[in-house]
Amino acid sequence: MTEQLAMLMEYQGLDDKVRAIEDELRASAVRKKLLHARNYLVNSQNNLQKMEAEAEELRSLLETVQTKYAASLKELDEMGVHFEAADEESDGDDVADMRRLANNLLNDLTRQEKELTGLMKRLANMDQEVKKMATNIPKAKADYASLKVTYDEELAKVQARTAPIKEEMEALGQKIGDALMARYRSARQSNATNPIVPLSGSRCTGCHMDLPSAAAKKIREEQCIGECENCGRILYAE
Ligand SMILES: [Zn+2]
Repeated sequence: MTEQLAMLMEYQGLDDKVRAIEDELRASAVRKKLLHARNYLVNSQNNLQKMEAEAEELRSLLETVQTKYAASLKELDEMGVHFEAADEESDGDDVADMRRLANNLLNDLTRQEKELTGLMKRLANMDQEVKKMATNIPKAKADYASLKVTYDEELAKVQARTAPIKEEMEALGQKIGDALMARYRSARQSNATNPIVPLSGSRCTGCHMDLPSAAAKKIREEQCIGECENCGRILYAE
């Protein structure tokens, strides 16, 4: 094994250590709770906004129906005046027409009243719902903030543990050199685990695919660092 490869293997070991520590935090209960609290808060805020918009729409609909209702009332009122005038002068057909119109108007009014009652009930329910949500949100915010404090403490602990390892990696990376480090990073990016693996015969022990025999032979005979065409891992001969 070349010295460079030995350093790269050491680098991989340190990298794994850092990842394992960071994974602990990623899988921790506090992080899960924090994400949950954040989702809850965002959803609540979105729902509240949606509901407020719906309530606004309902209010405007209510206004429209109220206007129509007032117009129907006014029309009925005016018709009453006509009725009085008609009693003496008009013939029976006119009066019958007016009665029909008046009946239609009364039907409209009944329908509009029903609609108004329904709308007001829906609006009252919605207002109550909005109120409930609006009181929940500050609590959700406080929950999130307190979880964030705990999470940040955990994060600081993780960073304190990983910082010296990262320093070591930094120094090692400089000795390994930019070219090989770039290959390592690319291999790590496409393979979360074991970016450097040994050859077994002509097989990559990372993805278990066979290399072209010439490529495997070159790695073996020249004791150089190769690369798996299939998974992108760095390969070496044991
Ligand atoms: Zn492979």
